[in-house]
Amino acid sequence: MEQLSAKALRDRIAAGETSSVEATEAILSRIEDVDPALGAYISTHREMAMERAADVDRRVKAGEPVGELAGVPVAVKDNMCTTFGATTCASAILKDFHSPYNATVVEKLLAADAVIVGKTNMDEFAMGSSTENSALRRTVNPWDGARVPGGSSGGSAAAVASRLCYAALGSDTGGSIRQPASFCGVVGLKPTYGRVSRFGLVAYGSSLDQIGPITRSVADAALMMNVIAGRDAADSTSVDETIAPVCDYLEKLAIPVEGLKIGVVSEFNAGADEPVREALGEAIGVYEGLGAEVVEIGMPRLDYAIAAYYVIATAEASSNLARYDGVHYGHRSERARDYVKVYTKSRAEALGKEVKRRIMLGTYALSSGYYDAYYLKALKVRNLIRGDFTEAFRKCDCIMMPVAPTTAFGIGEKVDDPLTMYLSDIYTIAANLAGVPAISIPCGFDGNRLPIGLQIISPAFTEDRLLAIARMFERQTDWHKAEPTVSGGH
Ligand code: GLN
Repeated sequence: MEQLSAKALRDRIAAGETSSVEATEAILSRIEDVDPALGAYISTHREMAMERAADVDRRVKAGEPVGELAGVPVAVKDNMCTTFGATTCASAILKDFHSPYNATVVEKLLAADAVIVGKTNMDEFAMGSSTENSALRRTVNPWDGARVPGGSSGGSAAAVASRLCYAALGSDTGGSIRQPASFCGVVGLKPTYGRVSRFGLVAYGSSLDQIGPITRSVADAALMMNVIAGRDAADSTSVDETIAPVCDYLEKLAIPVEGLKIGVVSEFNAGADEPVREALGEAIGVYEGLGAEVVEIGMPRLDYAIAAYYVIATAEASSNLARYDGVHYGHRSERARDYVKVYTKSRAEALGKEVKRRIMLGTYALSSGYYDAYYLKALKVRNLIRGDFTEAFRKCDCIMMPVAPTTAFGIGEKVDDPLTMYLSDIYTIAANLAGVPAISIPCGFDGNRLPIGLQIISPAFTEDRLLAIARMFERQTDWHKAEPTVSGGH
């Protein structure tokens, strides 16, 4: 049963052909078997999950209407607030934090009758590309237990790849949905900034953060978007639907894009490892076989994306994380004897190394003497990058590029070398700076049988077309059907 797609499982449950109790029990016992070695979950919520599953089954039996994700076991990244369990952000500072409210996306999942089985591991406060910055546990790559699952939504991607849930939510500030999806061989969609409510998502870089689905197929990503997309009065940056209407993403999926023009930035892509470049070339070849045309585009400012991102994201993070002061939230130092020490000791004791590094970088970039030189400059570069996209989308419908320059790297390989770790975000970051949607779909393997992802980027609020373009590829290939050979390092 774990092999079914979320959509197929939902249809069966709604038709009374299988029960949510059965599906949920199967997932929970699989988590108990596999997750001690895999490390995808920070917490699971068996009792609540089984209760909700039983309720869905009861309603199906009674002929009552059920939601779009009726009885489907799903997972959410542990930086989305839930009233059940803790919301830790994989940080020691929030280890015991219980939210008084649910994030809007969590409310929407519940309203669609999804069964949330657990909350997934991540880099602390979503800062990282490998999930190694989690203060709570280690997640390994389902395809090779000695490698990282990617990050920061590594737990969600590993859980979906290892069949420990049917779909999951991640968050993407600079690639954190797409890169782990690519490393784990699953589908990851970062929607347009403002398409999905961020209310209740613990803020990292507020002008960049976006929640999106991690799934086993493009259709399941569309199904998840049907549930989570849309304006939310509680998030003023979520976009008005009269300006950018949401649609039925599943329905639009079936419509292949005619006369597709694919933009490629050859020079930029040349920086990726050979197996990644080869897989990209072959993937584009598949589209050409379907009648697509490839156009070479110039995006001269992409080279500056990483530099601009690590100024903007850290600046925003330094401000957002000021609230973890030992007074309002989370851990308070036992050793503090005066109020200044409450702040300093609580933060010193319970924030991880990478988080501290980001706070220092961001505080520096925002300090009065350097604001113009770093932060303001980075904002200007961001604007130019946005302009590069606008210019590019005059010549093409979408842009294809790698998700990451490499496949999954080894645990411990980059964790002591922050700059190298930052450089691994080179292909994903620009979409966040520009606010445009981007998807990662499985498109091959390297010589070590590690998954490779294809990234497709499209203009703002064209998720319907983006998903349809991704679906065209999926229909022609079997990459998304491959199963991890190693689950949890067995
Ligand atoms: N790896 C990037 C960072 O560390 C992106 C993280 C993310 O998207 N949350 O900032």
